[in-house]
Amino acid sequence: MTRPSRVVIDRKALQHNFNQVKQLAPNAKVMAVIKADAYGHGIVRVAETLKDADAFGVACLEEAQQLRDSNIQNRIVLLEGPYKAVDLEKIVDLSLDIVVHHHYQIDMLEQTATRCPLNVWLKVDSGMHRLGFSPHDMPNALARLQTCKQVEKAITLMTHLATANEQAHPLTDKQLSCFQSLSENIHLEKTIANSAALLSLSQTHVDWVRPGLMLYGVSPMVNTVASDHNLKPVMSLESEIIAIQHLKKGESVGYGATWCCPEDMPIGIVAAGYGDGFPRHAKSGTPVLVNDIRCSLIGRASMDMLTIDLRNLSDPKIGDKVILWGKSLPIEEVAQHAGTIPYELLCSVHKRLAFEEHG
Ligand SMILES: *Cc1c(COP(=O)(O)O)cnc(C)c1O
Repeated sequence: MTRPSRVVIDRKALQHNFNQVKQLAPNAKVMAVIKADAYGHGIVRVAETLKDADAFGVACLEEAQQLRDSNIQNRIVLLEGPYKAVDLEKIVDLSLDIVVHHHYQIDMLEQTATRCPLNVWLKVDSGMHRLGFSPHDMPNALARLQTCKQVEKAITLMTHLATANEQAHPLTDKQLSCFQSLSENIHLEKTIANSAALLSLSQTHVDWVRPGLMLYGVSPMVNTVASDHNLKPVMSLESEIIAIQHLKKGESVGYGATWCCPEDMPIGIVAAGYGDGFPRHAKSGTPVLVNDIRCSLIGRASMDMLTIDLRNLSDPKIGDKVILWGKSLPIEEVAQHAGTIPYELLCSVHKRLAFEEHG
């Protein structure tokens, strides 16, 4: 072990957050969304911890393959479905469920004989306008799927909300009533809720819920943090101070000399940077914990190093522990200072970092 920067994953926190999902939606089955390497937490590690999930949601075949290779036997749903007809054979081999969101996928299913029928999640576009059949096209898509030999009879109807993370956004109501009127006379299982809807819209807790972000102990709701929802951060990004400088008033720090010392003061150099996934756009003032005391980022993040203001510490030392986000430092706050969202920060954590597990 040379570099002190690392990612620490708290499996107990992950389990706690899963239990929160079960408490919020006790009658729903849970599709735990673990795409993008489980939002940077490690897809296999997360799937092994959440073995009680009724299904896992992933983005692509490669992710599903990784899970099956690690002997994960839960249902796995390809959230964007097959991209090409050649994917179908592999999908059957790995025994995956597919989301069907477009006519070309139904053509593909009708034209390709498969060894056994596939579980299909039919996606309806109720107003997000990304993936899914329009309300007008949905009945025809459903009828085609129901008569397709390659499709299992128990189809699940699915839609996705665009604004559930904002309080009382008018689009949410519009989407919910659209999906409701389209699906109320169809006796199939249904699913609507992502994390934001799970936390704030109990009417979306139908047959299945599909939490992603909240499982990792991060709040999707604007202007709130995990602890507001009784969630516990799973990932901490940690490092250490590797140098301390005592600078004079007026001296500048880092590339571009964007920050100047307002007085004589100590600054710390931390061994982590944008090459590890720390956002380069984090502004001076972004909070950083040193020995559990709040300090702040000063100057620009570089590839392997950050500079921080150490005036809040009485006796800073080389080797002092630094937390960039995680326990006691909400990633939601760091994201806001960097002009981004926690999702992006989590997904960007670099695989060169050492990963450690607790719990
Ligand atoms: C990513 C994703 C989710 C999970 O969203 P979160 O906001 O992370 O809870 C749910 N459903 C679908 C279709 C997704 O693509």
